[in-house]
Amino acid sequence: MSEAAPVGDERPATGTARRTVVHLRKAVRFAVRYVAGYFEPGRFAPGRSPKLSLETTNICNAKCVFCANPVMTRRKQPLDMEAFCKAVDEFAAMGGTDIDFNATIGDPLLDPRLLERARYVRRHPQFANLGFVTTLQWLHRFPLDDFFAAGFTWLAVSTTLSGRERYHEFFGVDLYDRMLANLVALLEENNRRGRPIHVAISIKPTNEPLARVIAHPDLERIARLTDQDLAATVRSQGFYVDDWLGAVTLPSYLKKRPLYPRSFRPCRLLYAGLMVYSNGNVGACSCRDFEATSELILGNVKDATLGDLWTGDTLARLREDWRRRNRVPDICRSCRHYLY
Ligand code: SF4
Ligand code: SF4
Repeated sequence: MSEAAPVGDERPATGTARRTVVHLRKAVRFAVRYVAGYFEPGRFAPGRSPKLSLETTNICNAKCVFCANPVMTRRKQPLDMEAFCKAVDEFAAMGGTDIDFNATIGDPLLDPRLLERARYVRRHPQFANLGFVTTLQWLHRFPLDDFFAAGFTWLAVSTTLSGRERYHEFFGVDLYDRMLANLVALLEENNRRGRPIHVAISIKPTNEPLARVIAHPDLERIARLTDQDLAATVRSQGFYVDDWLGAVTLPSYLKKRPLYPRSFRPCRLLYAGLMVYSNGNVGACSCRDFEATSELILGNVKDATLGDLWTGDTLARLREDWRRRNRVPDICRSCRHYLY
């Protein structure tokens, strides 16, 4: 009895000391990265070859727990085909090579002209890759032969694989069985064709033990159809997310990402590329502007060329005002996707 007490007393102290050391190490590593990033060559210069995201539609039926879709008020619409073709052609003329159909809000599979658009992009040989993030809830709308012929080279599937109930909780729709059937169909067909599409499965965090997620029969079933280590994917899940500038109330098991310091240090995304929203507005960042109305909107693709918007005064001023005068755009002040 007399020997047990000191051991019991020491354990918490040792645990606290370890945690402190771990936190200190993390803080030092962050500080080194943060300082080194500032002095990185070309850190504050626009990329020579910008990236372009085309929001082919801002329609999405899901209501993910960490998404602003349920509160978005802008009109739900597909991107006008003429504006789409104009954007693709102008981006090709700029020498761009990195293009995708990622939406700020929206699931491209709900765009009736998706395959036509993909074929249009792939007419330009410089666009060697094309893909988008999707829930895959609506893949069955397209004949698989047509889908594979359209020229997509990658898909990022956002999902959960631990049953209908958890899926419903996260995505806000009861479409687990359909998603699963679509995912199986996609993977089987992709395997049969020699994997022309790189399918990356992103398993979203749910409020349940990781061991249960990893042991779920549906996850095991999908794991047999892909080389991706799905157990490792689950273990590396991020529980730190953004709350879309306070528009979304996160469930308690998800945490807000840290708000990194950003004074005189424009976000890297302002140098990376452009976003064409489904209403034609062109933004300097594809990340948080769910209404497509922020100070990061540079113009509309129907009235201006992408080349002019990329090299024009508005974007240059946004960067310089932040860098030299610390005028941070409102939308960027509380954005937790800020890239230092
Ligand atoms: S995260 Fe994507 S799938 Fe989920 S509601 Fe938002 S746009 Fe839809
Ligand atoms: S801080 Fe956020 S909104 Fe601003 S450019 Fe970066 S990612 Fe986009």
